[in-house]
Amino acid sequence: MSAHLKLYNTATRQVADFQPLKPGQVGIYLCGATVQAPPHIGHVRSGVNFDILRRWLTASGFDVTFIRNVTDIDDKILHKAAHEEIPWWAVAQKYERAFTEAYRALNVLPPTYEPRATGHITQMVELMELLIANGSAYAPGNGDVYLDVRHLKSYLTLSNQKLDDLQSAEDADLTYKKDPRDFALWKAAKPGDPSWPTPWGAGRPGWHLECSAMAHAYLGETFDIHGGGLDLIFPHHENEIAQSESAGWGFANIWMHNAWVTASGEKMSKSLGNSLQVHEILKSVRGIELRWYLGSAHYRSMTEFSFAALEEASVNFRRIEGFLKRATDVLGETPEGVISSGFSEAMNEDLAVPTALAVVAEIMRLGNTALSAGDLPSVRVAAAEIRGALNILGCDPFDPIFATSNSSNTDVLDGLVALALEQRAAARDRKDFAAADAIRDQIAALGVVIEDTSAGTRWSIS
Ligand SMILES: [Zn+2]
Repeated sequence: MSAHLKLYNTATRQVADFQPLKPGQVGIYLCGATVQAPPHIGHVRSGVNFDILRRWLTASGFDVTFIRNVTDIDDKILHKAAHEEIPWWAVAQKYERAFTEAYRALNVLPPTYEPRATGHITQMVELMELLIANGSAYAPGNGDVYLDVRHLKSYLTLSNQKLDDLQSAEDADLTYKKDPRDFALWKAAKPGDPSWPTPWGAGRPGWHLECSAMAHAYLGETFDIHGGGLDLIFPHHENEIAQSESAGWGFANIWMHNAWVTASGEKMSKSLGNSLQVHEILKSVRGIELRWYLGSAHYRSMTEFSFAALEEASVNFRRIEGFLKRATDVLGETPEGVISSGFSEAMNEDLAVPTALAVVAEIMRLGNTALSAGDLPSVRVAAAEIRGALNILGCDPFDPIFATSNSSNTDVLDGLVALALEQRAAARDRKDFAAADAIRDQIAALGVVIEDTSAGTRWSIS
């Protein structure tokens, strides 16, 4: 299956046959989160998209090394720490955990390695030493270290810009910079901020430097695929390339970028409110359904978010899930997943998930016909092929990761709370108020909040 995978490369702006550097192996570096707030669905889309890539490469026979970093030191983290009045590292750990939980709920496989920036300061200092030694970077003496953009042979090819067209950075202060477009590899320590010692003074790393150093540490000088969201192309990825190529490294062979989740046509941002945070949305849909929704668009297509579209995706998913369950009932077992040729062909075309889903819909149509006709061998084939497809998409309802949230946890909980409420109503009817109160208190102790309204009793989890 591996022979014909084609991928779009942002650097060449073309779809081309994927050729790994080493036969049978693929190294992928994906820019991970800056952990300074709970993830919203825009943040986790790249996790889902690149997880599908990883699963497809693995299913195609490749041994995949998948690196996704954690940016745990950054201006935004320091601001948040000041705002929440807790240490910067506590902010980073709190939100790193929130991301880990969101990825898990969405069945995004844990990366092979998940390096934190602050754990790789040594490698960053080594890279700066190399860049200063070969004249690509300079330390002006104030504790900062800058990359000299005029020294670069090629720069801005990924974003297709020219250096001359580049606006000067907002701080066009040339006290220390040789050129306003030079960017900081390292930032001198400010009083009270965390810092690490270097030969040029204490400070902390710039975001771009972190990714160059970590990608190199885990994947070597040249590796297969570097990924991230579209918004990272400039300046982040351009600057990663500038640093790494100046170090003499080949760096990434292929650049892949996922499109955004938009709201009213705009890139989803924190300011759009908390309602689109992953843990909020997971109160109304299951993780497997949110994953299905996020993964069902082509990774290079914008997804305009709406609750109606999410609901529609959930309904579509439940139909497929329903078919698999009916098939399992009549067959007496769940068939193992297999990859159909139609699905494989679609995925090999730059991960054309929408086409792959059309293939799944057609398999399900045939499967339903076979169910009605009692044609069990055909039911088995359809169920196996659908399961194979759902596995790649990370949405197999029989995947143990979904076992606890499978077949609507909420329905079960709803039933149990309703039962308890019936018992409370019965106790009240017979004027046994002590028993009624005891039931209410026990429910409350479990974290379920009961609210008596004119429309009846409602409950929620506190
Ligand atoms: Zn990065």
